[in-house]
Amino acid sequence: MLLLKKDRPKGPYDVVVIGSGLGGMTAANMLARQGRKVLLLEAHNKLGGLATWFRRPEGKIFDISLHGFPVGMIKTCRRYWNKEIADRIIRIKKVRFKNPQFDLDTDFTEEDYKRILHEKFGLTPQVAQNFFDTLRNMNFYDRPETTIGELFNAFFPGRNDIVRFLLEPITYANGSTLEDPAIAYGIVFSNFMNKGVYIFQGGTDLMIEMMKTELLKNGVDIKLHSQVDKIVVGNGKVTGVKVGEETVSTRAVVSNAHLLSTIFKLVGSEHFSPAFKKEAAQVRANTSSCQVYMGFSTGESIPYMGDLIFYSKAWPFSTEMLLNPEVEGQTFSFYYPDMRPEQGHTYAVVASSNARYDDWAKLSREEYLKRKQHLIERALQDLEELLPGVRRKIDYTEAATPLTLERFTRHPMGASFGTKFEGLQASKKLSEEIAGLYHAGSVGIIMSGWLGAANYGAIQSHAVDTYLSKQQQQGEDHDHGTIS
Ligand SMILES: Cc1cc2nc3c(=O)[nH]c(=O)nc-3n(C[C@H](O)[C@H](O)[C@H](O)COP(=O)(O)OP(=O)(O)OC[C@H]3O[C@@H](n4cnc5c(N)ncnc54)[C@H](O)[C@@H]3O)c2cc1C
Repeated sequence: MLLLKKDRPKGPYDVVVIGSGLGGMTAANMLARQGRKVLLLEAHNKLGGLATWFRRPEGKIFDISLHGFPVGMIKTCRRYWNKEIADRIIRIKKVRFKNPQFDLDTDFTEEDYKRILHEKFGLTPQVAQNFFDTLRNMNFYDRPETTIGELFNAFFPGRNDIVRFLLEPITYANGSTLEDPAIAYGIVFSNFMNKGVYIFQGGTDLMIEMMKTELLKNGVDIKLHSQVDKIVVGNGKVTGVKVGEETVSTRAVVSNAHLLSTIFKLVGSEHFSPAFKKEAAQVRANTSSCQVYMGFSTGESIPYMGDLIFYSKAWPFSTEMLLNPEVEGQTFSFYYPDMRPEQGHTYAVVASSNARYDDWAKLSREEYLKRKQHLIERALQDLEELLPGVRRKIDYTEAATPLTLERFTRHPMGASFGTKFEGLQASKKLSEEIAGLYHAGSVGIIMSGWLGAANYGAIQSHAVDTYLSKQQQQGEDHDHGTIS
């Protein structure tokens, strides 16, 4: 049931899910399907979290995070959502790289990557094959100490161009750096390399609407405009959540808020063991993003350019360079009318770049606005180089910065991809610290992005269901006198 602003949720609930990002929504959906009484609380005025969009006059619509995800999303949506949602996932046709080191197209499959590594970068087919085999055989639980940088160095010493080809898309996809563990890169790259890059045809708005329908069908109570201020803990156990003056009682909580906000703000560090507090304090938020949204005048069109273009004028490549506030590299996502066939003639281009919160937070209001304008100008200039004459077709621009992301999601430092690698461990330990407390939001590079977040929501829903069943069992045993 969709609760209105004035409605009071009728607890007690089995589970309250805080936040409706893909992790939160997937957990809510799975738990409702398992027969649990679920309340989904979202601070914002719509569902989706970072899987979102916005509209502007004259039919303009911009997707924020619909640039590409791995094929695994089809299975995830079929399993944890429904066939109709899964059936709308389609493969994008062309990914392009344009930088001083190379200009090439790929369909982003393993076969094509191996071909390019051989034909354009001069590797023997065996070396390329060995690299892919090594990635595929990486085992998460082995926890190798190797970093991404060391992995590349072992296979392609001194080949900055190959590093760029292999890492740039993944850095855009989840903020990975050369210092991150190789296993994080291995898993994400292997996922993407399975069968190319996919998007949701119909746009993020349609996908979230379909998910909302499914949540309501499965009996989830949804309330928007509901910012949770506190997770209430008593005797080492979750007992409720506070929204303003109101407390809703619940047996379990799944927080889709950022991991650090969950621990230090929503719960409060006083409820955790000293060892866990120490571990949590060392978890680093991931980096943030900037975006420029470009809309076209009515009736204007552009030829097919590819769907994603990794564009940069900088050389040599480094993950640090991608964070430079001067925007040394950006990704252009092109949206053609077939993206939203129902809506007819709509073109849009979104330029995304990685960014550091501190580079934006320290600016005065005046400098901030100036820097935003610079961001827009930079995107237009670079796009003009890819498609001369495009500028005069564009009649709408707008920019988002790490501060926009922070305001929108409440994630510390506007983190786009949750936390660095260590966040996964801390997230999983929450229920050992406080009974009934779970987290399902982007963490640890692997559990981020549309696919990672949705999968993590499903994984955590099983853990919550098991906890609730055990609790029920204990209650029944207690009622029958087996527990004194
Ligand atoms: C610019 C950009 C581009 C991206 N591009 C891609 C891409 O192309 N492909 C891809 O796979 N991934 C992409 N991502 C990443 C992807 O969007 C995210 O990893 C994923 O959507 C995050 O899901 P989540 O479940 O972690 O929750 P989030 O989307 O982070 O949502 C958390 C939700 O919790 C709510 N919330 C927080 N605190 C509270 C509270 N106290 N009370 C109530 N509600 C609360 C927030 O309002 C929000 O709705 C991109 C991200 C960004 C920023």
